[in-house]
Amino acid sequence: MRLVYDFDERCDAGRALLGGKGLGLAEMTQLGLPVPKGFTITTAACRAEWPPALLEEVDLHLTRLEALTGKRFGDPSRPLLISVRSGGPVSMPGMMETVLNLGLNRSIAEALALATGSVDFAFDAYRRLIQMYGEVVAGIEPGAFVPAESPLATAHAFEQVYLEHAGVPFPDDPRHQLAAAIRGVFASWNAPRAAVYRRQYGISDTLGTAVNVVEMVFGNRDDRSATGVCFSRNPATGEPGLYGEFLVRAQGEDIVAGSRTPQPVAAMADTFPVAYTALETAVGELERHYRDMQDVEFTIEQDRLFLLQTRSAKRTAAAALRCAVAFVDDGLLDRTEAVRRIDPSSLDQLLHPTFDPGARVRIAAVGLAASPGAASGAAVFDADRAAARAAAGDAVILVRPETTADDIHGLIPAGGVLTARGGMTSHAAVVARGMGKPCVAGCAALQVDPSTRTAQIGDVPIAEGDLVTIDGTTGRVVVGAVDLVDPVPNADLELVLEWADDLRRLSVYANADTPLDAERARARGAEGIGLCRTEHMFMAADRLPLVRQMILADGDEARAAALAELLPLQQADFEAIFAAMDELPVTVRLLDPPLHEFLPAPDEVEDDRTRERIAQLREANPMLGTRGCRLGLQWPEIYEMQIRAIVRAASAVAARTGVTPTVEIMHPLVAFESELVRLRELTARTAAEERATGYAFGTMIELPRAALRAGELARHADFFSFGTNDLTQTTLGFSRDDAQGRFLTYYLEHGILPSDPFATLDTVGVGELMRLAVERACAENPHLRIGICGEHGGDPASIAFCEELGLDYVSCSPFRLPVARLAAAQAAVAHDDTSAYVPAGG
Ligand code: PEP
Ligand code: MG
Repeated sequence: MRLVYDFDERCDAGRALLGGKGLGLAEMTQLGLPVPKGFTITTAACRAEWPPALLEEVDLHLTRLEALTGKRFGDPSRPLLISVRSGGPVSMPGMMETVLNLGLNRSIAEALALATGSVDFAFDAYRRLIQMYGEVVAGIEPGAFVPAESPLATAHAFEQVYLEHAGVPFPDDPRHQLAAAIRGVFASWNAPRAAVYRRQYGISDTLGTAVNVVEMVFGNRDDRSATGVCFSRNPATGEPGLYGEFLVRAQGEDIVAGSRTPQPVAAMADTFPVAYTALETAVGELERHYRDMQDVEFTIEQDRLFLLQTRSAKRTAAAALRCAVAFVDDGLLDRTEAVRRIDPSSLDQLLHPTFDPGARVRIAAVGLAASPGAASGAAVFDADRAAARAAAGDAVILVRPETTADDIHGLIPAGGVLTARGGMTSHAAVVARGMGKPCVAGCAALQVDPSTRTAQIGDVPIAEGDLVTIDGTTGRVVVGAVDLVDPVPNADLELVLEWADDLRRLSVYANADTPLDAERARARGAEGIGLCRTEHMFMAADRLPLVRQMILADGDEARAAALAELLPLQQADFEAIFAAMDELPVTVRLLDPPLHEFLPAPDEVEDDRTRERIAQLREANPMLGTRGCRLGLQWPEIYEMQIRAIVRAASAVAARTGVTPTVEIMHPLVAFESELVRLRELTARTAAEERATGYAFGTMIELPRAALRAGELARHADFFSFGTNDLTQTTLGFSRDDAQGRFLTYYLEHGILPSDPFATLDTVGVGELMRLAVERACAENPHLRIGICGEHGGDPASIAFCEELGLDYVSCSPFRLPVARLAAAQAAVAHDDTSAYVPAGG
């Protein structure tokens, strides 16, 4: 097995072996773009944990690199210096290690100083090597390296720091340095922060990282040298044109470290005109080659441009949509490909709140608008506290001088991020954009002192827990709370969703309980209501007393009186919902309360009889108690009232508007055929009494027994809807009310489960029951329509599974509709096409 590939070698090793960075460097080299020479050690070498032939093979490629560059590794007269950089198959920005300037030692640095005429340059490079090597290989804390007055003095001081902490002198043999650096980079794959990052993004721990060994080019050489990062378009908006930053006389991480503020890349046109033109050309070529927005790292050494990396740019949803539409306009992509490239979950960002324009706010400061959306929360000044307070249920804003990869566990639960330093490509900005959470970066007026857990903007002090609000779309920062409002429509989104609607097979319905929800749902493209939960209609203040009276009634008469009063109220609700949906299907689910949700606490009640009745009704496990149809079968008058209200509402709306609603009556928590037979009889009898026809009758499938016996149930139903919330709860035996924040959180943190089964379908467990149910039901009743209305109906991975099962529709909250429409289109496309899009990654 080959373990090392040169950049200019044609090979089909691909991203899995070369890593994203290695693949990008090879492709750029082969496109003829200016890339320093080098080679990639594959991820297989990392996975194999140092195979015996590795060093020998590295040596061969090093010799070739010497020949190509005309320099020699370890030769003071014409030293070859190299960087050793990590690059996994999936981009993990800033998570893993890099060592630059490898191949230097004190005598080679002295020779380099002579050759370049700059002691500062040579010893700055050397001190960086000692520091990076010290951190990566010897595990020395970054804080141990304190700079002295000059690069030369610093380098000598760092040699001393290395000796003290590592117990041995800094190794002056370049080959020894190289072997140890490769080992160090491999080891960083397993560092805790990298593991946390992988868990957050569902990246497999077994991929391993590749290592890129590249001839050094020096952005810190002199004032005609610089280093920079840039996007082919604006990553926040998608507007065309180079977008990024550069820093003169700088190397490596200087640009994102936030210690010096970089200049916008447009300024390069004046200061480095030749390199700027070369950059524009190269980036344009890369965008056309990958047919995707690129994120490029570059260095200028004495006016000459070198590209060090290219990858698919992380971008906001707005930018992704803008690009997709622009690429379709330019003929680079077809509509199907454009639809495939948008991450459905990212659309959430466009549905983020912003400041209420009418709100009177006192802007304390304005920083960089680094990641859009507004968020309020308690200020916290370190990642550990952010994680702790968020776990306790607080909305938090992580406020830092700047963030690093070590803050990842605080960034994940934070509602937003505010930093004093750093630009649009600082760690905080990149990570927040990737996570779709608001970020204001580089807020110069902000002073943060993590040691005292305080901050200050001007003379306004901020203590931990004080409310702050940030607006990552504009960069505004407010000390205090601000009213937030829903976002405005996005034309690119509407267009891409239209393309998606043409591609998808699944219908997309909404879960909507109120006329307002129904209107929202239609505005976002719902083709019907897949779940109207009627228990919410019982919770309103004017109804709860009647509902209590109904439940607590100790005789039929008292119950009938309460129901008679509830009927017109329910009917009015249904009328408004039907009117909002015109002739689109509306699936009304009959009452399914865990009873205790309606009952007062016994000590709230005055009279003894009622208290006794509450005690009688109290259940040890209400979720598995008198819920759903069990309630409707014991007290049929409740369901009768609801059915009357539904059919009366439908005929009233038809009479008034001329449009006949499509009514679907759905029964919850059915397990047995005998239940469904009785429910059907009850429904038919009541509807007949009302002279109503033309409604559909169906049941939810939310218990394992219902799924297993779906064939029997299908004989009596027009439609099924998978209630995967309960089906997950009952199949896994996980209480949906108690799992989160407790054992489920533990399971996720410790990798016992890969994802939350209440958010993403457990396709091999719960999904297997669904598959059985579909097979058995369709065998008995080929006309049966089948959908899903649990939370999973809005989750892209679960929607893909519903496509695979051949369901007829998914139903989700109105807010998730755009996500579901896009995900359903992608699922349909993936179903009849296996050539998945692979972005350029780093
Ligand atoms: C379900 O169980 O998936 C469902 C939609 O019903 P509810 O969440 O109301 O129990
Ligand atoms: Mg349910």
